[in-house]
Amino acid sequence: MSVQFRSTRAEAGSAPVRFREALFRGLAPDRGLYVPLSIPPLKDSWVNAGSFQELGLDVLGNWLGDAELGPETFSRLVREALDIPVKLRPLSGERWLLELHHGPTLAFKDFAARFMGRIMNAALAQEGRRLTIVVATSGDTGSAVAAGFSGLPNVRVVLLYPAGRVSPLQERQLTVSRPGVQALRVHGDFDDCQRMAKDVLADAELQEQGLSSANSINIARLLPQQLYYLWSLLLLRREYGITAEPVFAVPSGNLGNLTAGVWAALSGAPVASFIAAHNANDWFVRWLADGEEAGAFPATVPTISNAMDVGAPSNFERLQAIEADTKRLVSGQSADEAATLKRIRLTWEEDGVAVCPHTAVGLEALERQRQAGAATGPAIVLATAAAAKFPEVVSRAVPGLWPTAPELDSLEDAVVSSTDLTADSAELKQYLLSRGADWADGSADVG
Ligand SMILES: *Cc1c(COP(=O)(O)O)cnc(C)c1O
Repeated sequence: MSVQFRSTRAEAGSAPVRFREALFRGLAPDRGLYVPLSIPPLKDSWVNAGSFQELGLDVLGNWLGDAELGPETFSRLVREALDIPVKLRPLSGERWLLELHHGPTLAFKDFAARFMGRIMNAALAQEGRRLTIVVATSGDTGSAVAAGFSGLPNVRVVLLYPAGRVSPLQERQLTVSRPGVQALRVHGDFDDCQRMAKDVLADAELQEQGLSSANSINIARLLPQQLYYLWSLLLLRREYGITAEPVFAVPSGNLGNLTAGVWAALSGAPVASFIAAHNANDWFVRWLADGEEAGAFPATVPTISNAMDVGAPSNFERLQAIEADTKRLVSGQSADEAATLKRIRLTWEEDGVAVCPHTAVGLEALERQRQAGAATGPAIVLATAAAAKFPEVVSRAVPGLWPTAPELDSLEDAVVSSTDLTADSAELKQYLLSRGADWADGSADVG
């Protein structure tokens, strides 16, 4: 009934695992990534979905059954997780923006984090367990996980972020007081945070407390990301009468969003093709053009579309596992900083829309693909974050334009709290041990 999963590194014929095991392991024991044994074809009913949540239930139910949670619980959690508006906004030139930034932290990662948090919490409650999720973050993921997991009684979140290396706005988003979430301000860089998280996750003594991560390779983060591709196809048909198969431009870093889109296409979604849109970190673009061998990844280059600054994309292994399909469906384009800023300006001037730098990379990639004579029909560009999250960049592109959002304005007066830590795994371990039994119902974390 429900899909089984195997590791990308599994020997042919080795035993597959259930969703629950893939969810709690994250990474497979052989350090590969979980992929479906086979992709379930969409049921005919998907085209009749009356709402995004209904579509989600139809498609995720097709993949997971009820995820062993019982049909009522599963249905309630999926509806709660997907309670985020998904909008298709028309631009000139047969282009649409698929706005994925109307969730609590104004970026598409909210969909995955809310789903993963709820499913994990319910599975833990069923098993009578609790877990502390340790997340090292350089910005976006941390706040999405904090918002997505907060208030769920069987999970609590410890965020590690590098002091002085996230923007003031990002810092407020990370440290705003949320039940069950503690932010740790590490005096080091992002790599220190990641090393510390890995060290404590591998620590035998701490394992007894139940530690886990919520990193971007978890299968539970990918599955719900298929849904907005499908929903946008229905919106394109229903609201604009367009039945031609569109091309999707996907602003990409770790390639999670793209992988989800390709899986949706392989399950039968009517998609013409995908454009992997990258900033200067464009190793994958070269790989698609047969210019790179898998495995030799370059160092990460910092850019203004910083959520896409990934030298070694962790989901590459999943796309490589279906290499023939990936190369048939996906082409790549990259945009440098000047082209990204120019695209923000042009989109403002021509369409009156302020876009974030990641979305601008997607728009620019589409333009380049069209100039090369491809992607001629309708095109949907994923708007992965709200412009208001990156006002400095937007105002560099369009002097005088400073996008805002009520959700961010209200952070100005929000209660924030964080604990300072040196970049030392032993200190983090001490902190976690000292908080071992402090589950309280979350109230201890407020204020
Ligand atoms: C994470 C992120 C991306 C990249 O998505 P991947 O799934 O890692 O490829 C793009 N834009 C924004 C705003 C993001 O936060």
